[in-house]
Amino acid sequence: MKQFGLNIWGNDNFIIKNNTININYANKPSLLEIAQDIRDKGYKGPLLLRFPHLIEKQISTLFTTFEKAKKTFGYQGKFQAVFPLKVNQFPNFVHALMDVSQKYNYGLEAGSKAELIIAMSKTPIGAPITVNGFKDKEMIALCFIAAKMGHNITVTIEGIGELQTIIQVNTEFNEDIENPILPKIGVRIRLHSSGIGIWAKSGGYSSKFGLTSTELLEAYELLKKHELLAYLSMIHFHIGSQMSDISPLKKALREAGNIYADLKKRGADALCAINIGGGLAVEYSQHAHNRDRNYSLDEFANDVIYLMQEIAKSRGVDEPDIFTESGRYVAASHAILITPVLELFSQEYHEKNLRLKENNPPLIQELYDLFSSLTRDNAREYLHDALDHMESLLTLFDLGYIDLEDRSNTEILVNLIIKKSIALLKNEDTNELKRLQNRIQEKYLVNFSAFQSLPDFWGLKQHFPIMPIDHLDVRPTNPASIWDITCDSDGEIDFNPDLPLYLHDIDVSQEEYFLAFFLTGAYQEVLGMKHNLFTHPTEAVITFDEKGHYAVNNLIDAQNLMDVLDDLDYDTNIVDKALKYKIEESEHISKEEKRELLGKLYLYLSENSYLKTIQAISEND
Ligand SMILES: *Cc1c(COP(=O)(O)O)cnc(C)c1O
Repeated sequence: MKQFGLNIWGNDNFIIKNNTININYANKPSLLEIAQDIRDKGYKGPLLLRFPHLIEKQISTLFTTFEKAKKTFGYQGKFQAVFPLKVNQFPNFVHALMDVSQKYNYGLEAGSKAELIIAMSKTPIGAPITVNGFKDKEMIALCFIAAKMGHNITVTIEGIGELQTIIQVNTEFNEDIENPILPKIGVRIRLHSSGIGIWAKSGGYSSKFGLTSTELLEAYELLKKHELLAYLSMIHFHIGSQMSDISPLKKALREAGNIYADLKKRGADALCAINIGGGLAVEYSQHAHNRDRNYSLDEFANDVIYLMQEIAKSRGVDEPDIFTESGRYVAASHAILITPVLELFSQEYHEKNLRLKENNPPLIQELYDLFSSLTRDNAREYLHDALDHMESLLTLFDLGYIDLEDRSNTEILVNLIIKKSIALLKNEDTNELKRLQNRIQEKYLVNFSAFQSLPDFWGLKQHFPIMPIDHLDVRPTNPASIWDITCDSDGEIDFNPDLPLYLHDIDVSQEEYFLAFFLTGAYQEVLGMKHNLFTHPTEAVITFDEKGHYAVNNLIDAQNLMDVLDDLDYDTNIVDKALKYKIEESEHISKEEKRELLGKLYLYLSENSYLKTIQAISEND
């Protein structure tokens, strides 16, 4: 059975059963039955399914692993965590997140005013809120309002200017107030160490964020002068997302730990926490030789606790509370995009499409004989002969000696010979075979937009696990590349012979074939762009009742065509009027037909941009 690397990226979240991939939870429904269930309600485009139990699993693993590490080392500080909203701000996600994390006193991190408003309204009073990123006076004032609501909020300053603004806002909010209420203050430090990988720019000396040592000292003195030292509670750093290697984190922890100890010794008595930001990586790989991270969560937690303890001990200060802002780790696994394959290109290379003649050119006859008598022993030799014949035949075509039918037969036969040879020689992993796979790759046209649903693939070539959701008892043999439905050649996930994806040879005019894209719950949704006006796909939240049955909740249909235009600030009344007017004024159609056209038009306008059905199947309906 082909696993599609499930044992590498799947984290025991799925099992393969009865040829389908199933949720490894409750009654273990298959993704196929859930998708069909929703499609039966009339939603035909791509579906984004959210699984709150997978959010809960990540949060509880995070907390229990850190609690275990604390116990191992007898660590005195607390462990706390917040979710960085920039990773996923969608309400169906945030509501599920807050719902499943109640018992952990889990909070939210905000990096902009809009995110701060989400945090202020959704975080339970008492759970932590951290505020990072560049802030103006209004944003800092919002933090004061949150503090006065009773929120446990920490504003992280990214520069001296922000501290000056805090001092100013404090005067405005708290002058003449007997018991002033302020947010806690954190400082983001500019590290020497930086992460590794495509998202490593957040750390390091040239990073966009954080205070240098000189600025830290200046901030310390300013806080002291304005009697605000009692609010300085947190040191913060973030070395970049999807940290593939643990060593930069260790360096960062040593830097941050020593800064913490130094400031405490200087008199920052209220300082009690180190916020290690995010960066905890997700394993996206489908291939054992190409892993995305070299450490486990256990190692990560042990390193953090051990290093902080060591520094605190050697410098003679209290062990700090540890905050994390892991976002990718918490959100990635909860969302799966499921969508049908619309068409397979190059399926014309089938034996049934051969147009052999009574009398074929001798080289074609020979190709046919090679194909018919191919065996494991002669495969390599015959393959070379076939490639050689093809060159000659293409030259003969260019010179006008053979016709289009001969050329088509050549292409089909050579393709079939390559395919068959690769299958016969599959245990010999040579470069030549790899190169040839590229040639016979099958293009799968899939009903989704890579720009909308996998923007990190488009922008950074980040790979995501992809697999069909049924036929898993059959060994897939087609080297596959995936085309999305945008009119942009960047919307293609190429076949990569080093990290190959094989899919099944399915006649999609006869049966549906669905692909699933996994681990799409972090960053992809809000980064997704509306290229060609394909918008956020239809989404649903899948929960389970006590009996283990799943339920489809909070279904949100992808935007309809008029709403898409409305979002771009078209005046949709004018668009609507123009369409109607043009039908009504058209000269060559009858009144009756006009009425019919209008009816159809309005039906289509109520639907979304994605393709609805597979052509051939709908013709048979
Ligand atoms: C983006 C970001 C995070 C989240 O990082 P992940 O790699 O998704 O865990 C955490 N903290 C800050 C300050 C960030 O900017």
